[in-house]
This record gives sequence, C-alpha cells and structure tokens, in this order.
Amino acid sequence: MRNTTRRPRENRTITVDFQNEATYFQLLGDGKAFVECVIAFLLSLGFQLKHKAMCTGGGCLTRHSHYLRVRLGGVTIWRLQCTTCHAVFTVLPHFVLRYRAIRPEVARDALLATHGGLSLELCAVIGHISPMALYRLICAIGHHSLVTVLTRCGLPLPIYFLADEKHSRCLTAKVYLPTIVRGRVLWHLGYTTEASAVAFTQSYGEFQRAALQQEPSYRVKGVLTDGFDSTTKSLRTLFPGARLGICLRHALTKLPKKLAAIPSPVRTALRSQFHTLLYRVRQRKSLRVVALGQRLRRFADHVATTAGVVNGERVRRWFQDKKAGWYAVLEDPQMPVTSTLLDQAHNAMERKLFAMKGFHHPGGSQQAFLTGLAHLYNLIPYQRRAQHAGQCGVEVEGGTVPTRDWLLNLQILTSGGFR
Ligand SMILES: [Zn+2]
Repeated sequence: MRNTTRRPRENRTITVDFQNEATYFQLLGDGKAFVECVIAFLLSLGFQLKHKAMCTGGGCLTRHSHYLRVRLGGVTIWRLQCTTCHAVFTVLPHFVLRYRAIRPEVARDALLATHGGLSLELCAVIGHISPMALYRLICAIGHHSLVTVLTRCGLPLPIYFLADEKHSRCLTAKVYLPTIVRGRVLWHLGYTTEASAVAFTQSYGEFQRAALQQEPSYRVKGVLTDGFDSTTKSLRTLFPGARLGICLRHALTKLPKKLAAIPSPVRTALRSQFHTLLYRVRQRKSLRVVALGQRLRRFADHVATTAGVVNGERVRRWFQDKKAGWYAVLEDPQMPVTSTLLDQAHNAMERKLFAMKGFHHPGGSQQAFLTGLAHLYNLIPYQRRAQHAGQCGVEVEGGTVPTRDWLLNLQILTSGGFR
C-alpha cells in the first residue's frame, strides 16, 4: 500500500499561460517570439527555473526539440534548453494537462464538482471523463507536496498551527487522517491505518521533513490540539520546543459529559457558567494564567455544591488533567484558541471521502488522493456569497497566486520545472 506521498519525479515541465490557443499556434512558427513569450511569463511569475546543480540560470534558453501530443489531436509541445547547463524544460501550454488526455475545461468542471462534494461517479456523469480518469487526475496533482505549493505562493511555514486527526473508513477498516491547518490552509493531510503515537509521528513527520527541506531553520512555536493522547505524544516527539495547547471550545463541549445524573437545567447552567469563565479569563491578558488556576478551583467547588461531590471531584480531576493545555493557549497571545477552522476543513473533506466510495480500497493511492483534495481545498476560490468571495484559502492567509484562474494556478504551482 502506498501510504506516503511519492517524491515528485525529477521533471522539468512548466505550464505557461499563452492567453489563448491561437496565440500559441502562431508562436509555434516563430522560435524567437516563442522563447521570449516564455521568458516574459516566467518574469511575471517571479519563479526560477530548476536548472542543474551549479548553474546560475544566467545563460539563455533556446528551442531544443518538439514532439506531438497524439492524444490531444497532435498538439506540438516544445522543449527549451538552457545553453549553460543543458537542462531541458518541457513547455506545456495552459490548455494541456501534463500526461493527460483530458482538456482543462473538462478537468475544471469535474474537479470543481469533486471539491463541492459530488461523487467521482456523478462528476463523471456531468463531464466527459471516466471516474477512474478523475481519480488519477486528483492523485497526479497530489504527488506534489502541499508545503512546496504553499511556499511557492509566498506563505511562510506555519509557526503556530492546529493539528488533529479525522477518523474515516477504508471499506470496513478504520483509518485516520492526521491534519495540519493554519487558518484557511491545509498544510498536511496524511493517512494512517492506526491511531498510535508512532503512526501519527510518522505522518506529521512527513510535513516536518518537507518543511525543513524548504527552511532548515524552521521551528514550531505552538500547536493546538483537541487533547487526544497519540496526537499530543507525536507532536511532542517531533516538535519538542513547541507549546502544546488544548482547544478551549472543545473543553466547553466536554464539560456536560463530566456531569452525571443531574437534572438537565443544572447541567446547562454549569456549562454556561464555564463558558463565561473561559471567556473572562481570555479577556484578562496579563493575568489570565493565574486567573484561570483560581477560577478552575472555585468552579470545581461550585460543581460540588450544585451537582454533588462525585461530579465535583470528576470535574476537578479533569481540570487537573487538561489545565496545562489550557494554560498553554492563554500564555501565548499568538496561540490559536479554538480548532474551529480545522473542524471546517475536516467537514469539507468528509463529503469528498464519502465520494471516494468505489475507489476506497486498501491498494489505492490514498495519500496522493488526499493530498490532491487538499490542493483543491487550498486553491479553489470561495463561492460568490461566501465571506471571502472570489479568494482562495491561500489568498485569505496572505499568499499570492500566479493568475486569477485557479486551475491554471494548480497547473503552474504543481509544475516540476520551477525551483
Ligand atoms: Zn542552466
């Protein structure tokens, strides 16, 4: 089973926006203009080509060779060569997907429908594409790491983030998707068959490796989790210096479960008092850690008087267990306070994983498929009526995308020819 994202092939393919097909076919007859157009596009992106080691890329590009893309009705594809290091770059025009016979406009509709939660089978009904071709397309996108694509958009590696696992199923087996979210962007969407600290360490470790490759001095300052033991252990192993906080909103939903055999109005009242407590503590910036300790003690006493000694004791032990994680949230103003944005990402993934039905088998490319879905999550703009209408997650977080066209962005950002 392929559980890890495959390293992208050492390919030097680049997708270039020629605006329209006619321009491209016109340029095919004029080598000089063709090269100039490619160079102008590269300058507009601000991306560097992936030359061979030691080459500064200062030389010039010349047309090297061409071939015909038979499955696309014989489109001519040119390769350019660096005159210094002889690296060869394949130039794909914007209307051609790498290795695919699918036209981008068909892929666009199918991917958008998949992103919206429509099953692969139904996406195949609305477009001329087989479910398997769509599955393979998403996997192909997913062979490029999230960290590479996001840093190409100018996003800094996340110093603070949310981490948690989504529980899912592969046929009848339970599986887990270790996830890292910063704001509206997914930085990691892994796949494990076990919920152990070892399995999670391996999965979150893939993110860490990719991040360190980008930025060797990368250090995580704070992580917010829901307090699950394997999650905490794996993060502690990977990021020993990081502050590990526990989601405050999660604490609120957990409290009622700690109060057994009491009338519902009493439980509701206690929950609302606990809500006020957390809210007030967050308001008092410099005093908040000290204040939390005192208030938690008083609250446990209050539970004992109103809901009985047994409940009071259970709540007190629970506080004892979790308060270090709550302190961690309150100690550092930059720490995320709730994991709401991570829950939203998980809910969005849930619909798509359900859509995976027929392809969800133990021998599938789960990791690549999930990473592909995560790219869509990061790069497809929010719909017209949404809060961030027209912007994608990457842009909401302050990143920049190459063009106004999300599919073209996906093609460009997952091109192997850029450094
Ligand atoms: Zn070169």
